[in-house]
Amino acid sequence: MSQTSETQLLEQQLIAFRHDLHRHPELSFEEVETTKKIKAALEEKKIKILNLPLKTGVVAEVSGKEDGPVIALRSDIDALPIHEQSGVAFTSENDGVMHACGHDFHTSTLLGTAYLLKDHEDELQGTVRLIFQPGEESGHGAESVVKTGVLDDVKVIFGLHNDPTLKVGEIGSRHHALTAGVDRFEIHINAKGAHAARPYEGKDPIVILAQVINVFQSIVSRNIASTENAVVSITQVHAGNTWNVIPASAFVEGTVRTFSKDVRAYIPERFRTILNGIAETFESEIELKWFPGPPSVENDPEWTDFALDVAGKEGLTPKLLEPTSIGEDFAFYQESLIGAFVMVGSGGPYALHHPKFRADDHAIYPTSRYFESLAIEALKKLTASV
Ligand SMILES: [Zn+2]
Ligand SMILES: [Zn+2]
Repeated sequence: MSQTSETQLLEQQLIAFRHDLHRHPELSFEEVETTKKIKAALEEKKIKILNLPLKTGVVAEVSGKEDGPVIALRSDIDALPIHEQSGVAFTSENDGVMHACGHDFHTSTLLGTAYLLKDHEDELQGTVRLIFQPGEESGHGAESVVKTGVLDDVKVIFGLHNDPTLKVGEIGSRHHALTAGVDRFEIHINAKGAHAARPYEGKDPIVILAQVINVFQSIVSRNIASTENAVVSITQVHAGNTWNVIPASAFVEGTVRTFSKDVRAYIPERFRTILNGIAETFESEIELKWFPGPPSVENDPEWTDFALDVAGKEGLTPKLLEPTSIGEDFAFYQESLIGAFVMVGSGGPYALHHPKFRADDHAIYPTSRYFESLAIEALKKLTASV
């Protein structure tokens, strides 16, 4: 078979694989069928699958020189609890669940890379571990992979995410913070209910809730240096259930997005100071619950430049990006490993997590090729620097 028709065949196979995943999306840590499909596709090509204590997700390996360096490539495989409205022919058949972040695109891309690397196995200067990570949307999938120890000997890790704001063929990244640190908070206000006509006999949690919302808006505008970035968003409030009763309690939930470690540590501290002051003023109890998610993706400058250079050599268009306030649990890998994360143009009109989100299939095969070259070149670079 000619090179061109082989290429076309692989491209079609990867697109079909993606469409199948898209039709049958599964939520974080429930990716049982997805995992089976990935394993079957790897086995078809006789690619080694590592035996790890993971309920879902797969780590595979392609090895050339066994005593050479080890690098890792990572994609994620889970979907979101969103009802799909994209109108694509391969729309989700699992009602209320959708690949609205394009992790189906990432999975087929990495499968393509695995296939391409397997074809050139003998030329590899070391080992490439291919991580099909579960549970990214939960914020804890990367941790589950790290815990298995499968990355202990890895020298450098690369990850990718599709980006509908970039055109197909564009590869974007930046030095240091690319995505935001993501934290979630809950505030439980325990005050004192009363008849709506006699508020002085109670401690109105709705008035307290209003203070919390207002004062929180001063944190980014008045406490964070203008050279730093942060977001404080309150996304859910609940209090009361009728018109003539002052309730006894109120609930507030939201998220904080930060880029530097210092700002990330400062905001919950500031929350506590504000909440203690409001609680004292209104003679009530306010409890803060803090749920830390992934930190900021912190790209190694040297390997980021390297990843962008390889993109250029592959005929793709490298782009320097501004930081984005979305979260990405790839950051957990970078707590112990050197790594670079890139955004791959998927050229759609709708944002990630939108019910009409679409990713362009034309970007899959070139991205598989790109990650293949990145792996080959990274192993060469590591071998040369020993
Ligand atoms: Zn997502
Ligand atoms: Zn995602």
